[in-house]
Amino acid sequence: MSDRPRILIAGGGVGGLALAQALRRDGLDVAVYEQDPTPTIRNQGYRIHIDANGNAALRTCLASEALDLVRRTSGVNGDLVAGYTHRLEEVTTQTFPGIADDEITNVDRNAFRQGLLSGLADVVHFGRTVAGYRITGSGRVRVEFAEGGGEEGDLLVGADGVGSAVRRRLLPHATVKDLGVRCVYGRMTINETTDALIPEAFNRGLSWVADDKGLGAGFAPVRFRSRPEGASDYLMTTLIGTPERLGTSDEDLFKLPPQDLWKITVEATTDWHPAVRELFAHADADTFFPIAIRAGERVDAWKSGPVTLLGDAIHTMPPAGGVGANTALQDAATLADELLAAVRGEKSLIDAVAAYERTMLPRGFDTVDNSLRMAGRMFGTAD
Ligand SMILES: Cc1cc2nc3c(=O)[nH]c(=O)nc-3n(C[C@H](O)[C@H](O)[C@H](O)COP(=O)(O)OP(=O)(O)OC[C@H]3O[C@@H](n4cnc5c(N)ncnc54)[C@H](O)[C@@H]3O)c2cc1C
Repeated sequence: MSDRPRILIAGGGVGGLALAQALRRDGLDVAVYEQDPTPTIRNQGYRIHIDANGNAALRTCLASEALDLVRRTSGVNGDLVAGYTHRLEEVTTQTFPGIADDEITNVDRNAFRQGLLSGLADVVHFGRTVAGYRITGSGRVRVEFAEGGGEEGDLLVGADGVGSAVRRRLLPHATVKDLGVRCVYGRMTINETTDALIPEAFNRGLSWVADDKGLGAGFAPVRFRSRPEGASDYLMTTLIGTPERLGTSDEDLFKLPPQDLWKITVEATTDWHPAVRELFAHADADTFFPIAIRAGERVDAWKSGPVTLLGDAIHTMPPAGGVGANTALQDAATLADELLAAVRGEKSLIDAVAAYERTMLPRGFDTVDNSLRMAGRMFGTAD
């Protein structure tokens, strides 16, 4: 290995890009391989809640210009998480007073990705799908692309999300459990008409509404501090339940066009409070998509080497706790710190990877367990 190890990152999502930012800022040789053909090809979803851990990790990983861009294009801070019955009777409220203006509490996923990509144009390679890897005779790692060809480096970081090709090769025994619950996400553009429909408390953070028949819904606004070109403020909506409760088969749910998913949302909530129904009724029907709620099952530590994992690739979790992205950011910050210590000569690269894994694994899976407990309370899942 040279003084400046070459770090290969599979996946240009939340964690992979944050890691690339940190390594690039400190002059490491880094390359990110992302399967999406372009940064904007696919809408990756809507609002992401950023917590104190996520803020700290962003400060660790990002150069000030990138952090400023992420902050500028983040959502206006909220200070409330509240739960209601489907008749809109308040059940729980939690307030978070005194959040500093330079803290980020929510981001739009696309705007966030643009912020994380800033300054990385020559580092991130789009349209490269990591299919696998092999360890070379000299102990380096060669990543292989589905499109053909490959690249060699000193460390491969699998930051390639829940379906990670790197995890499948490194830890073939690791499993991701399907919790049997589905979310249908959508959004309502906020304009003069729809703004008036949003209950005042719903503007202040995350609002959770649940009926007594196993159906839940979440609402959270993104009101950009500074609106990125082409973006508009919106209220994220999500409906959560088993396929049966949503009134469709699981197979159909994932084949339905967005407009039909919107219809499912409207029809499943006909006996809910009119103020909630209005939000679904005015949502943009072409923005709806389904996701399966899954959780990574705890794996034992493995012998550290020139391949490691980060974020959802190792510890995916239900979105109930709103911490998956925050945990991926923490992983990026921890791994960056360790790799930089290796570059300063304080430890070997493999010792740095081992130290990262000793922190990442228990932290990641404890967070999965917490998210499962929250999911159990919110979605009625067995765990
Ligand atoms: C609807 C929804 C709402 C959520 N809300 C929140 C929230 O409010 N707060 C929160 O903290 N978390 C939230 N999460 C979870 C959060 O999005 C994830 O935990 C987070 O994105 C994980 O980051 P990551 O970098 O590990 O993976 P990702 O961000 O998923 O990035 C993985 C990247 O790898 C790429 N990739 C995949 N396979 C390959 C391959 N073979 N080769 C190359 N590239 C590949 C993908 O295209 C993607 O860009 C939510 C998740 C969902 C689905």
